[in-house]
Amino acid sequence: MSRALCWIRRDLRLNDHRALFEACANHDEVAVVFVFDTVILDALENRSDRRVTFIMQSLLELDQGLRKRGSSLIVLHGNPVHEIPKLAHELKAEAVLTARDFEPYALERDEEVRQALANQTIDFQTVKDQVIFERGEILSLTGTPFKVFTPFSRRWLEKFEERVDAIAYDPELSKLIPESLASPYSMGLDYSLIRFTECQPWLDAGEQAGNAALTDFESRINEYGDARDIPSVNGTSLLSVHLRFGTISVREAVQTALQHESAGAKKWLMELIWREFYQDILANNPQVVSTTFDPTYAELEWPGIDEHFEAWKAGQTGYPIVDAAMRCFAETGWMHNRFRMIVASFLTKDLLVDYKKGEQYFAENLLDFDLASNNGGWQWAASVGCDAQPYFRIFNPYLQSRKFDPDGIFIRKWIPELAYLDNRSIHEPSEMEAVMSDYSLPIVNHAEQRATAIAMFQQAKRNPTSM
Ligand SMILES: Cc1cc2nc3c(=O)[nH]c(=O)nc-3n(C[C@H](O)[C@H](O)[C@H](O)COP(=O)(O)OP(=O)(O)OC[C@H]3O[C@@H](n4cnc5c(N)ncnc54)[C@H](O)[C@@H]3O)c2cc1C
Repeated sequence: MSRALCWIRRDLRLNDHRALFEACANHDEVAVVFVFDTVILDALENRSDRRVTFIMQSLLELDQGLRKRGSSLIVLHGNPVHEIPKLAHELKAEAVLTARDFEPYALERDEEVRQALANQTIDFQTVKDQVIFERGEILSLTGTPFKVFTPFSRRWLEKFEERVDAIAYDPELSKLIPESLASPYSMGLDYSLIRFTECQPWLDAGEQAGNAALTDFESRINEYGDARDIPSVNGTSLLSVHLRFGTISVREAVQTALQHESAGAKKWLMELIWREFYQDILANNPQVVSTTFDPTYAELEWPGIDEHFEAWKAGQTGYPIVDAAMRCFAETGWMHNRFRMIVASFLTKDLLVDYKKGEQYFAENLLDFDLASNNGGWQWAASVGCDAQPYFRIFNPYLQSRKFDPDGIFIRKWIPELAYLDNRSIHEPSEMEAVMSDYSLPIVNHAEQRATAIAMFQQAKRNPTSM
């Protein structure tokens, strides 16, 4: 009789769950555990963090799913480096299976878990789950990782044709240990035990909600190409949170895209490949967590001041499109991709504030925060990353506003003091209109800041190390 422990982390579902599938296929009995990791949780200042609520609600649903099959989830609170080997020992498990994770903290933690388990002769197996292709699978003809998206995506598509990675796996859940065996080890699902309080995320958590979001998006997928850039319409999938926490499997998302021939579906598949690209960049270049991917800009000094950073966070820069996006973000933890690009460009190229500050603020507040995508997005916008936006191509916030929120619908919603302005003025209120509306005047001049930013990058290119 062999028993295995399936350790779930950011794969909060039962369907197409690779680690669970492998555990059930190769062992007689399987227990499922989730650890509220105190290393991660203790670092969160906000004790009603939206992500904790999303995880808790997803776990409640997952636990119900296990209970329907006569089992239940084992929930622990502590450092997994100690908790997992201890539980595996107590349950007399032969093996622990989990999804592979290339974030630097996860790699370090998993290595410690592996060693602690090895000391007890318990096997530790990690399986690919979060991506279709992981580190080392998408390589150039010379066998090196790609640094540019387009050839990466071409190779990704070729490789996908050759392989069957997108086939969903249905775990044989009859192997789960009975609830009576699992529950004595579990502390249960309760916010107070982990010292957090529940909040109300803007979208429903859990696997059912993930599937519903995918089904809903499928009815709109053909329009994605045109609708994806207009934040005031429901044009994108809103699946990033579900992909982040694994309440939907990426294989299901890719299969959905492939079931449609339209340009919209093809474009959407490309976005999923962008996600894989940034995962690949992080896995191959973990240094990007602390420095620029492009070494030319590693020593770049950003002259932006704290006061401007605070105004950006508060949505009080005097640039309506930036302020609307930032106010929406502060209230919901969500930001449309077009706005992420606009506000990141504004912070780095107009306010000349270090992208790492913006990256950190997003990391603290994004419900879909994903280290690889967030770091990739910020380095792209700041022109210091891999296959980044060229430094001289700087978004004009007024033009972006007119193009992507032409009727000011989004601005009106989030900056009510400007709602009375007509479609011409709302993007760029005059000084008098701003004063009359009690709205901030622009804290910087876009044209001047743009010139300063370009000069700053040119200087860094001429003299990369002396900045
Ligand atoms: C500065 C900045 C920070 C970002 N931070 C994150 C982050 O922390 N987490 C995150 O998931 N995405 C991040 N993105 C990427 C993108 O903004 C979000 O994935 C997208 O807005 C999520 O909305 P959606 O699910 O409706 O996307 P859709 O348009 O429906 O796209 C489908 C999926 O493709 C992936 N995707 C789409 N665009 C990108 C992209 N540019 N890079 C990587 N993956 C992408 C996401 O998983 C997304 O759910 C960031 C982008 C920028 C510019």
